[in-house]
Amino acid sequence: MDFCFFTRKTSKMSGSNKIVALKGKQEGAAASSDLAPVAGLELPTFEAGWVWLAGAGPGDPGLLTLHALNALQQADVIVHDALVSEHILALASPQTEKVYAGKRGGKPSVKQRDISAKLIELARQGKRVLRLKGGDPFVFGRGGEEALSLVEAGVPFRIIPGVTAGIGGLGYAGIPVTHRDTNHAVTFVTGHMAGGDMPENLDWAAIAKGSPAIVLYMALSHFGEIARLMLENGRAKDEPVAFVRNASLPDQEVLETTLASAVADLERTEFKGPAIIVIGEIVRLRQSLDWLGALEGKVLKTDPLGNRGELDAG
Ligand code: SAH
Repeated sequence: MDFCFFTRKTSKMSGSNKIVALKGKQEGAAASSDLAPVAGLELPTFEAGWVWLAGAGPGDPGLLTLHALNALQQADVIVHDALVSEHILALASPQTEKVYAGKRGGKPSVKQRDISAKLIELARQGKRVLRLKGGDPFVFGRGGEEALSLVEAGVPFRIIPGVTAGIGGLGYAGIPVTHRDTNHAVTFVTGHMAGGDMPENLDWAAIAKGSPAIVLYMALSHFGEIARLMLENGRAKDEPVAFVRNASLPDQEVLETTLASAVADLERTEFKGPAIIVIGEIVRLRQSLDWLGALEGKVLKTDPLGNRGELDAG
């Protein structure tokens, strides 16, 4: 099978800001089960009739945990969502059944209760069921809901956390989610409810006033409204905002803008999701920490915060 190593071209393709997938050959399932470090760790055996609810990370297969890889190697069936890449599914044996249970905003998707019912049904058939979700299953991933239905049905389960897009995905854009000189707190917010509306039970004014950094999942379609609420509640027009699309994947794209210009910039660039959004001074650190850009020849600045960088906030 094709196997992708995620890297940057060293040639100077200035401005393209794309990760290049270098293709090589691997020997399919055999290669994955030969991974000595995994075997040496004595990771758990996947028992028949169990469901393992695992996070696959934001996309780059290198961000899978060893537990997730161990699960991929032993599962009889993988029930996965749309954000799990084919490169990750390819780490399972070709014999492993793959069931798509995607839920994408605006498109017809499998109902949550049907997904839970499917997991229970497969487990009761005595299968080793891997429920694989993008990022971390407990971060805006409905992993809690699915695990609760397993408890109710008496199906034994294990949780395998993953690298969430709002932390690891930002890392791939060179944006640390906390930094002593900019923010001692961060708020993770979803911009989307089950029906597609903006969450109304959130105190947006309090978030705007109280959180120095805000990381938004599923918020692209409502960003105009969110930016308006931020500005109305005292955030500066020139506060930096970054949109990171397909974080950690070969076609990762980053749009850096400000609260006041974001909507126009999104339209101008026809920016599409899935994207993680971050509002806050931490975005400025990307000028120094865009390590993927550096692989492509970008010159990293040494003082992204100016004199603010000298203030040690403790
Ligand atoms: N459980 C996932 C989040 C699922 S909600 C996690 O922990 O990451 C789906 C949203 O996550 C997307 O709309 C987008 O906002 C974000 N997301 C997930 N993967 C992403 C990626 N590779 N790049 C950018 N955003 C991503």
